[in-house]
Formats: sequence, C-alpha cells, structure tokens
Amino acid sequence: MSTAVVVGGGPNGLAAAVALAKAGVQVTVLEAADEVGGGTRSGEGILPGLLHDHCSAFHPMAAGSSFLNSLGLERYGLSWRWSEIDCAHPLDGGDAGVLWRSVDHTASGLGADGSKWRFLFSQPSAGYDALAEDITGPMLRLPKHPLRLARFGLPTVLPGSAIARCFATERAKALFGGVAAHAYQPLHRPLSSAIGLGILTAGHRHGWPVAAGGSQSITTALAALLSDLGGKIETGVAVRDVSELPAADVTLFDLAPGAVADILGNRLPGRVARAYKHFRHGPGAFKVDFAVEGGVPWINSEARRAGTVHVGGSFAEIAAAERDIHAGRMPDRPFVLVGQQYLADPQRSVGNTHPLWTYAHVPNGYTGNATEAIIAQIERFAPGFRDRIVGQSARTTTATAVHNPNFVGGDILTGAKDMTQLILGPRPTLNPYSAGIPGVYICSAATPPGPGAHGMCGSHAAREALHYLERRS
Ligand SMILES: Cc1cc2nc3c(=O)[nH]c(=O)nc-3n(C[C@H](O)[C@H](O)[C@H](O)COP(=O)(O)OP(=O)(O)OC[C@H]3O[C@@H](n4cnc5c(N)ncnc54)[C@H](O)[C@@H]3O)c2cc1C
Repeated sequence: MSTAVVVGGGPNGLAAAVALAKAGVQVTVLEAADEVGGGTRSGEGILPGLLHDHCSAFHPMAAGSSFLNSLGLERYGLSWRWSEIDCAHPLDGGDAGVLWRSVDHTASGLGADGSKWRFLFSQPSAGYDALAEDITGPMLRLPKHPLRLARFGLPTVLPGSAIARCFATERAKALFGGVAAHAYQPLHRPLSSAIGLGILTAGHRHGWPVAAGGSQSITTALAALLSDLGGKIETGVAVRDVSELPAADVTLFDLAPGAVADILGNRLPGRVARAYKHFRHGPGAFKVDFAVEGGVPWINSEARRAGTVHVGGSFAEIAAAERDIHAGRMPDRPFVLVGQQYLADPQRSVGNTHPLWTYAHVPNGYTGNATEAIIAQIERFAPGFRDRIVGQSARTTTATAVHNPNFVGGDILTGAKDMTQLILGPRPTLNPYSAGIPGVYICSAATPPGPGAHGMCGSHAAREALHYLERRS
C-alpha cells in the first residue's frame, strides 16, 4: 500500500488526504494546531453558547465545489444554510446595493444598471457548474469549455474600476466594488475584477451559504470521512524541518510557499526555492467578533436581512482604501466586511444576543488597533450599533498569523492575488502543485484556484500525487 503524509489540516489538506485515501493510499495528516480546520475553525469565545466563525464564513465556492459535492459530506453533518439576502452594500443616506441569489431579482433592484448586471451574470451563472471545471483549476491548460470560458473570462482581465465605470448608479458600482475588493488588490489594476466576478457568478448559482453549526462543520465532515477511509490525523504537530517528516511515498504541504521552502531547505531545486521564498503576500485582516444585543440597527432594512454586509461606502471610497492598504497606509475609513451568519443559522445566537463577524482590510503586518475604525464604519450606516455591543474580541494581523501560520502578516488569502500569482500560483510552471521534487506537492490556497474552503487545490494536488504513484508502480 502506498503512503502519504499531508502537512496541514486545513480544508485543502483534508481534501487532499480524502482524495488520496479514497484511492487506497494510507494517509497521515500532521496538523500544528490542537484541532484540524485551519481557516474554517469556529467556536465560542465572548459569551457561552455564542458561536463565532474564527475565519471563513460564507461559502459560495465550497457549495459549488465539484470535489466537496462528490463526497456526500451531508452524511457527516455538513449542511448549508442561506440567509434571505446574500449581501447588502449600504450607502450614505440609507440606500443600498442588494445582492440576491437570483440575477433577475438583483438586477431589478439596480434600476438603470439592471440590464448590465444581467449581461455580466445571467449566462455565466446559469452555466457555472460547467464553467467551474475550467476556473477552479490550473489556469495554464486547455479549457474544457472554451466558449463558455471566453464569455466569462473576457471581463475578468479588466480592472475592477473599468467594470465599475460601466455602471451608471452608485448602487451597482458599490455593490460590484465591495465584492471585487475580496481580491485585496488595488482596483485599478488589470485582473482585479477577476475574483469578484468569480464570487458573484458562483453566488448567483449557489448563493452565499454558511455551514450549519459554523464553518468548522466543513472540515469536521472531511476529517470524519477521512477517518472512515482509514486515514490518520495527528494534531499538535508543527513540522519545522524535513527531518521531522515520517517516510512516505508522497508528501503534500497545505502550507504557504515560504513555509514549504523553510521545511524542505536545500532539498528544493534552486529555482523552486527562490520562487517560494519570493512569493508575495497581500494586505492583512484585522478581525473583531462582537456580541450584539438585538442585532445591528442598519438604517437600510435589506441590510438587516443580509448574511453579508459590505461596509465601505461608495466605489471610489473602497478603491481609495484598497490603494492605501497596498501602500502600507491604514485608511481612516477601511473597507469592513460584516457577517450576520446567525440570520441563516439561528442556533449560533443566545436568545436575542447575536454573534457578529467583522474584519477590516489593513496593511500587511499592521500593528495598530482597528477596532474603533470598524465600529465607526458600522455606526455610520447603523447609528446606535455601539450601544448594542455587549462583548467583543479582536484579532490583530500578528495574532491571525499565530492562529494560522499560512496567513503571513494577516494575509488571509495565502498570497497576493496579483496578475502573476493569480494565474500561475506559487511559481511559473504548468504544474503549480509540484514542489519540483518527485512525489512532493503544495496544495494550499497559494495554488490555483486560490482561497476558499472549497478543497479544490487539495483535490488537484492529490490527483498529481496519484499520477506520480501510478507512474512509479
Ligand atoms: C478572517 C478570515 C475570513 C475569511 N473568510 C472567508 C470566507 O468567508 N469564505 C471563504 O471561502 N474563505 C474565507 N477565508 C479564507 C479561507 O479560510 C482560506 O482560503 C482557507 O482556509 C484555505 O485553506 P487551506 O487548506 O489552503 O489552508 P488553511 O486553512 O490555512 O490551513 C492550513 C493548516 O496548516 C496548518 N499548519 C500551518 N503550518 C503548519 C506546520 N508547520 N505544520 C503543521 N501544520 C501547519 C495550520 O494550522 C492550518 O490548520 C477567510 C479567512 C480568514 C482568516
């Protein structure tokens, strides 16, 4: 029987482990933390019974993941819950751009821009499941659906600001800009619309669901399936050096490229070591969880029914804030993401006290405290919010990197998604999962298709590992 070691038990590490175990490989996962989950962990913290997502919260890509969907994870307790509205983007004065799962419903709220929204998203989202075969894997390969990919892909090469300029209303500009800002890129750069267009297209097909019982349920389900398949998980094992790795036929790293370079040292071919060491990280997240009595008193009534609320004002304001954090400056009014997961999954609340998930986009390694800036931004669109806070807990960029070393300097995307790294992943090669040593792979969100709890990076890396084992036998 072939053997595999997977270092790191995030969604991609566990996805890789499951894919290998299903193929009959004896797999061991080594995880540094006391529990698996990486960026999907959830737990109590502020008040007993109040459940917070420590990292990821909304899962359009995971709900549409062909790999996760092939596993029957509902048998292991994974179920998705949708709030009535996927996302609201409040504007000064009480108006808001509102994202529904339905393209038509969204378009009808965007007035003069409705037809453009339909043009951008109707066809790609209707064919998303086929499109996903091309956009949730390595970019440098022959597409399975070239026409569909071209139809989706052409606008993605544009900067986010160019797409925003096509819209006439601030509602549509800001709604698009808030989602495009998930790329953590200055929005005037080419390809800075790509991640936003991908999330919106996936969301119009699958919605923006949360996992019942917290995002942790995704990796708890993967871990339970792995155990049924005979895989082993060892927690509390931080791998620092290649000498600490047990012997195995294949080794996969669910880690940031710099960490892989540190562990493998001079065993890595020089060109790979250089690429991994020079891998660029993007800006950071400053996270604050709140306990809020009665929920957030948003002026806009649709924001009170939305799972996600993007707080940043107009497109121009968000673009300026994103430019600032890239230049290492903390903006006075940062872009803030707010999660009201309890609307879809009420078991996370205690009575009328609700867990609120927020984070601000800040410079990489930002050492200040963004809590007050987050409260002020929310208060701007929900006066009285401050008075409803009954508890709070902040996580700085440094603490984020301690909680999960993959998030270097608070970079929750495991690498800047600039043009080169978005297309190529950690290094320029046709096989971005190969670490350049036969049988050794990288499978984290640094590889295509990038961040999210969808497990696709892990499944692609495992497929490469299985090809290697086949060739060897
Ligand atoms: C605040 C925040 C909000 C987010 N929001 C969303 C969202 O809403 N939707 C979404 O899809 N994604 C979101 N993400 C991103 C998502 O969490 C990540 O893209 C995803 O978890 C990446 O999975 P992964 O398996 O590649 O790596 P990770 O989840 O980072 O897992 C890596 C694992 O490796 C372990 N590890 C690290 N170093 C070592 C070592 N030396 N030895 C052994 N183990 C090690 C870590 O402890 C960790 O468990 C968010 C992340 C954060 C932090």
